[in-house]
Amino acid sequence: MKTNLRILTVAVALCIGLFTATAADKHDHEHKATPKGGRLLDKTKPHAEFVVEKDRTVTINFYNHDMKPVAATTQKVTVIADAKNGKATLQFDKKGDSLASKTKLPEGEGYNVVVQFKQTAEAKPSNLRFKLDMSICGGCKRAEYGCTCDH
Ligand SMILES: [Zn+2]
Repeated sequence: MKTNLRILTVAVALCIGLFTATAADKHDHEHKATPKGGRLLDKTKPHAEFVVEKDRTVTINFYNHDMKPVAATTQKVTVIADAKNGKATLQFDKKGDSLASKTKLPEGEGYNVVVQFKQTAEAKPSNLRFKLDMSICGGCKRAEYGCTCDH
């Protein structure tokens, strides 16, 4: 029992780093476990998932309320990576049901990324900012940027 508690404490502590780095002042966000291990973007409908692929391109997948995949429709996404060697802007193309970035994220990690998300080309963009932390969370075994441990 004590060991379990300690593991839990360590897992929570690992996750706090991420949540303090993000705009965690409001707790109305959901951290559902997305199917591809990515980060669920707040206030997106259908739910949008931000995934860093092995080749460091970014994929945005969409899910309905039951987390079943749905096709991208009118959404427009731009990702701005504020890397140590300068900012990089990633544009996206439709690829199957998802959006795929045309270019890769800059080297390294620990820098901030901003996802500019528009439901339609005319819609007001919402900016979702978080730290790109690729280390694996001890609690949920997901990359920290997609950690779900606040449940
Ligand atoms: Zn976690």
